[in-house]
Amino acid sequence: MKTLSILGSTGSIGQNTLTIVSMFPGRFRVKALAAKKNISLLSEQIKKFCPDLVSVFDSATATALKKCLPKNTAPEILYGDEGYSAVATHAMVDTVVSAMVGAAGLSPTIAAIEAGKDIALANKETLVMAGDFVMALARKNRTRILPVDSEHSAIFQCISGQRKEDVVKIFLTASGGPFLDRPVKTFRDITPADALKHPNWDMGKKISVDSATLMNKGLEVIEAKHLFDIPEEQIEVIIHPQSLIHSMVSYQDGSVLAQLGVPDMKSAIAYALSCPERLPIQQPAPDFTAIGSLDFRPPDLKKFPCLDLAFKAGKIGGTLPAVLNAANETAVTAFLNNRLPFSDIPKVIDHIMDIHTIDKSPGLSDIKKTDKWARQEAEILIKGR
Ligand code: MG
Repeated sequence: MKTLSILGSTGSIGQNTLTIVSMFPGRFRVKALAAKKNISLLSEQIKKFCPDLVSVFDSATATALKKCLPKNTAPEILYGDEGYSAVATHAMVDTVVSAMVGAAGLSPTIAAIEAGKDIALANKETLVMAGDFVMALARKNRTRILPVDSEHSAIFQCISGQRKEDVVKIFLTASGGPFLDRPVKTFRDITPADALKHPNWDMGKKISVDSATLMNKGLEVIEAKHLFDIPEEQIEVIIHPQSLIHSMVSYQDGSVLAQLGVPDMKSAIAYALSCPERLPIQQPAPDFTAIGSLDFRPPDLKKFPCLDLAFKAGKIGGTLPAVLNAANETAVTAFLNNRLPFSDIPKVIDHIMDIHTIDKSPGLSDIKKTDKWARQEAEILIKGR
C-alpha cells in the first residue's frame, strides 16, 4: 500500500491522480490533501477519500470548508504555508504528489524532501526556480524525484536501463500550442479564451497559457536539465503537433528511443506512482493507422520568444531562471485578467530579466527574495503601461 499526500488536489493533475487512486483502492491510500480555494470540489474529495489532514489557502477558506463537511467525518483542517507544509510532511505518507500551480509549490516540495518523502513532481517551477538546491537536497535525503510531466516521464522511461554516458541528446517534443500557425501580427488580439483552447491536452489555465507562448517548453528544458543532469546544449525542442511522441532520447550508436501514448496525463501520473510496474489504467494505445503520419518541425523562436528567453535563463543560471518564472507568472495572471496583451507577455519577462543583477550561486532565501522582487517589478511594469 502506497500512502499519498496530494499538493494541489483540485487542479488537473490532482484530479487525475485521484482518478487513479480510485481505480486501485488496494494499492493507494490518500492521507492528506492540499488545495487553494475550490472548496466545493475539495469537500467532495474529502468525502470520497477520507484523508486525515487537509490544508487550504487561508483561514476564511478553512472556515468555509468546515461548514461543508459532516462533523463526524471531518479531517483536521489547516491553512497557509504551515498547513501546506504539514500536508507535505505527514508522518504516514511515503509519496507526495507535488502539483500546485507555480512558485507556490516550491516550499511544500522542499519540506517533503526534507522529511524524506518520494516526490511525484508535476510542479516544474520547483526545479526552474531552485533546481540545483532541490536536486542536491534530494540526493542528501535519498529521496526520489519521479517526473509527472509527460515529457520528463517519457525521458525517464527512455533512459531506464541505459548508460548515461551513452546519451547524446534529449529531444523534448512540443505540440506548438493553439497558435502554431496563427500569423504573429494577430497575436495582440489573442484573448484568454483563445489561449485556453489547447489542441491536444486538457490542462489548468496557467499551463495552458504557458503552452500557447511556448514558455511551458522553456520551463521544461530547465526542468529536464536538473532532473537528468544534462546541459541545455544536449536538449533540443521539436514541434510535434500530434503530441503522440512524448519525448525521445538519442544515443551514441545513432539509436533513438521514444515513448509514445495518447495525450492523457493519467499514464505519466500512474508511472510515477508505480514504476517500474505499469498499472492497467484502461488507456488504449494510439490508433496509428488512423493517425497516418507524425509531423516534426523546428520551433520558431522569433514568433515564440518565451522559449528563447527560457534557454537563455537556463544557460546563465543563478537567480535568472527564478526571475524568468516570476515575471512569467505575473504576466500570465495579468493576461488572464485582461490587463496585458498576449503579445506583451515575453516583453515583460525580457525586461525584468534585463534589469536583474544576477546572483550566480544563490541560496534558497536569495531565490525567494528574487522571486518576490521580480513579481513586484513585473507588476509595476504592467501597471505603468
Ligand atoms: Mg509537459
